[in-house]
Order: sequence, then structure tokens, then C-alpha cells
Amino acid sequence: MCLDAPAEFLGKPIRFQWNPCETQHHLQLRKRSYFRSAPMEIAFQCLHTEPSICNKAERAFQKAGKTIASTFLFKEPVRVNATMMSFCQVTGECGKNMMTLGGSSPARAIPLLNSDGMTRLHPQALVKQFGLTDHPAFAPFDIIGIFNADAPFWFEEDNVPIGRNQADFSFVILHELMHGLGFYSGWNEYIGPHMITPDPSPFLANQLMLSINPGTTAIHPSQFLESAMDRLMTDEKRRFLSEHTRELNRMEAESLEALVVDPRFKAVQSVSEFATEPGTLGIQLSKEEWVVLETGLTPFQPGSSISHVAYSEYTHTPDFLMRFMQDRGLTLQEAVQRGEGKGPIGPLLLRIFEEMGYATVNRPDTVPPLMLFRSGIQKNQRLDKGTLTSSMAIHNSPTLLYLFFYLLIVLIY
Ligand SMILES: [Zn+2]
Repeated sequence: MCLDAPAEFLGKPIRFQWNPCETQHHLQLRKRSYFRSAPMEIAFQCLHTEPSICNKAERAFQKAGKTIASTFLFKEPVRVNATMMSFCQVTGECGKNMMTLGGSSPARAIPLLNSDGMTRLHPQALVKQFGLTDHPAFAPFDIIGIFNADAPFWFEEDNVPIGRNQADFSFVILHELMHGLGFYSGWNEYIGPHMITPDPSPFLANQLMLSINPGTTAIHPSQFLESAMDRLMTDEKRRFLSEHTRELNRMEAESLEALVVDPRFKAVQSVSEFATEPGTLGIQLSKEEWVVLETGLTPFQPGSSISHVAYSEYTHTPDFLMRFMQDRGLTLQEAVQRGEGKGPIGPLLLRIFEEMGYATVNRPDTVPPLMLFRSGIQKNQRLDKGTLTSSMAIHNSPTLLYLFFYLLIVLIY
């Protein structure tokens, strides 16, 4: 089963759904130069937008796609479905002093078994790079993004100084595409206020997601699902949050009511306290490198908290891009200069993607963090069709799931 974004998102709520995605066998891997990336392909459309603005926005998108493909080494093209539309007309978000500039999400998330024995939801864009001989069917797009036509965007090609209230559109695009490639946490407020857990949809549907290790045929059941990035998340004492998820997966509560009063669940809820306490959660890249995540927002903000880097830590650094709020009146180029960076994609951000399994110009030979990784070259070892590198089954037809749109906002006067 794969977790899909809706084909259209006009109106609320946005519902993601589990759909069957049968295993496909990848007969021939295209031979690609190791040092040349496959492109990012953008399908762009506008609603409620003047054609001249729409054209500018599309050109900015093409440029951002090139920027990313000159840093990442994609083995397969990454396809983006982006729409610019009036959030006021579509969602009723009109005239607030905080404005949403855009939002994005993977178009499909695929459960795969990681090398630490835990099944996590991987964005399709990332799964495509793993070069799996057998993989779940891919959806036509990897990333969906929406951009607010009501926002006071500034476009680089206009060649005029940015207004003090304007937001550089390129900044928004790059930020959202990073989310689409997998910069987000699965820990969120799904089941109630102040109860932060990984995606509970199998549990709520009274189901287990089963991943089978094709090497040992061991079965790994899950009822809570982290995102691919969550594998790297630790608390301030460098304890991996996945230990909490393992505990959740071991619990045998019959209902949500029974789950939340279980003493073991209470232990897991230390994460809920961390989620609104600055400096308590981060991405562990090595002993020395720990990227502080955004836990300074109170109350917890779904789509902003945890799934961004700490605003207070990274504004004046090369890794400013993934803060939850964009600077108004500052161009992307100026933000790079302020942080003394070399480009919009900062070194720590790139390292996070490398750890997730993307190849980059710095590390062209990344190894996918999967339980059993078989590339297309090892044809004689390939598994029987029908058994995936991480094969999964979910009983019955599961309920909807909540995957969030990961947002970027700006203050408006
Ligand atoms: Zn964001």
C-alpha cells in the first residue's frame, strides 16, 4: 500500500489516502552518468492569477529545478505538480497578519523497511533514487506543491529592488521542494492536543502494517509510522526518538482510549513536551553535527513544528532555508550572503538528504539505508516478483491518513 495525496486539493480538509500500489519489476535501469543529475520536471499551472505573473512564476520554478538538480544527483527524474492559486478564494485564508506562502508534500509516500528494522514512510522522490529492482508502483508525480497567488511575491527577473513587505518567490519554491524531497517529520499531533506521535493510521484502523525482511523472512509489524527523516531524529541527550516508536509498535491497546491511559504511552509522551520546548529535538548527522529542529512554537503548530530547522538558530547561517517563516523584504540571494553561504541549499541540509539516501555532488555514492538493498545490477540475486525489497501488506482497506502540507509563512503588516 502507498499513501497518496489527493488528485486535487481545492477545498478542505486535504485527505491523504492509502491505495494499492502493486510491485513493479524494473527491467532495465537506465545507465546514467555518475556525475550528471536527471532533471527535476515541473508541471505548473495557475488559477486566479494574471498570466504575466503565472509565466514569471513558472520561469522561477524552472530555475529552481535546475538549482536543485545541480546539487543533487538524481538517478531518476523528479516530477513536480505545482499550482499557484488564491488561498483566500480556495481555503478562506484572507487578510490575516500571518500569510501562508505555499505548502507541499510528497505526492506518494511508500513504506519501506530501513536497515534498523523499522518501517518508515519514504517520499516517492527518494524511493526512485534507490534503484530498487522491484518497487511499488510509482504515482505520476513525486511532489505536489501549492503557492498562494494572494502573497506579495517578488520575482528576481523583474530586476527591481525587493519591497519591504515582499517575499522572494524563489525562496518559497526551494523551501517547498525540500519538503517534497523528504525534509519533514512524521511526528505530529494526530490523535489529540499535546499527543505527538508518528502517523497512527494503521493503529487507528486496527491494523498492522507488515514489512517482511526478504533476507531472513522476519516480519516487522508496525502500527505507527515515522517518516524517512525521523530515523535521524534524537532528543537533546542524543536518544533516538525511534525507540519511542518501537515502544508504540509493541503496545497492544484495543482502542485509542486504552492507548492513551497506558503508562507506556505516558512515557512516550515526553516527545510531546520536547515538541514545544526549544532546542530539545534535532537531526543527528554525526557525533558533532546535530541540526536543531523547530520546537520553539507554542502551542504546537502542525506542519511548522518539528518539520523545520530552529528559527532562532539558523537565520544567520548558510542553513537558513528550512526555517518555518520567511524573511520579508529580503531576497534569497541576500539571505545566502547574510548566512555567508555558497548557495541556497546549506551544507547541513544537504547532509541530511545524503543521510536519507540521496546522492549529491559531494557524495555521489550514497547507499540507501534499507534492510536489504538490491540494485538492478545484481540481476541473478533478484527476488521473486511479488516480494519487495521491503514488502508490505496492510489488512483490509485502511482509513484515510493525515499527511500534512508543510508550510512556509510570512508576517504581513
Ligand atoms: Zn516549510
